[in-house]
Amino acid sequence: MQKSKHYLLIETLMKRIRMDDSETPTIQQEFYRLEAGLSGEQKLKRLLTDFYFKSDFHIFYNFECKNSNGFTHQMDALLLTPNFLLIIEVKQISGTLFYKPSLHEFFRVQDQLNENFPNPFDQAYRHQLFLEHQLKTWQLSIPVYHIVVLANYRAKLDESLNNFPIMHMSGIPRFIEKLYKQHPIPRAHLTFLQKQFEQLYEPLPPRRTIEKHRLRNGVLCKQCDYVNEMYYKQGYFICPVCRAKSKEALYETLLQYRILVSPRISNKAFREFFNIPCIHIASKLLAKAALEKHGTNKGTYYIIPERFD
Ligand SMILES: [Zn+2]
Repeated sequence: MQKSKHYLLIETLMKRIRMDDSETPTIQQEFYRLEAGLSGEQKLKRLLTDFYFKSDFHIFYNFECKNSNGFTHQMDALLLTPNFLLIIEVKQISGTLFYKPSLHEFFRVQDQLNENFPNPFDQAYRHQLFLEHQLKTWQLSIPVYHIVVLANYRAKLDESLNNFPIMHMSGIPRFIEKLYKQHPIPRAHLTFLQKQFEQLYEPLPPRRTIEKHRLRNGVLCKQCDYVNEMYYKQGYFICPVCRAKSKEALYETLLQYRILVSPRISNKAFREFFNIPCIHIASKLLAKAALEKHGTNKGTYYIIPERFD
């Protein structure tokens, strides 16, 4: 499952934002929302992994790209088959959902509270139009569909949604079967289709940034849920509270810096972020991490890779 860059940023920010920052509760809420979304996508993945497709197929989860106008598209799942394409939007909404089609208004009622949500049909339809256009430029004519699925089986769908492409996730296999019946003839080679979409795919940047001074410094203890700061001693980071001893914390903290601040780090920035005042220890740790080194003297900086193997 491909986590978006935005998810990674918020997930890391949860561990690093200062507790007294005014935005901390908002960021926590955002994280729980994203986590719920991800768990919905995972449910869909499990369901489709157990499904017998009638043709070759490929599924992109969290497909992200930009269109020719420079605007972005983010689809929770995109199913490619030689017969048709299906955009799947996954919603983790509880309560009872209602729709006022003439107003394009999508809302839910829960605990007698009425709350509006972004209209998922308009969102998915926008993706559909884009894909139809894109297929045309590849000189393909394959029908494109969209469907909104609810990952939360407790959610209720009001009758006002009857004629709209929304259903509980469990209905997806039947829905796909129906599409195969409607479109029994393949219209493209899956390999070609998949290759085009792989080229189109472009991970989108996070939807926000954070100023460095709003982050906590120091190497934070994973075992203590990133609450306590570890100190460095003879090759290890040690937690004064739970006594955890870690070499991995070096890499984890570097990755946190990469996600929140920059893939470039100088010796000085390293010392600040790791809260290690000694320039020699900092140099030693930077060398140990085997980061790619650039520049000379005061202009020296290192590149933190996307992952350490
Ligand atoms: Zn600890």
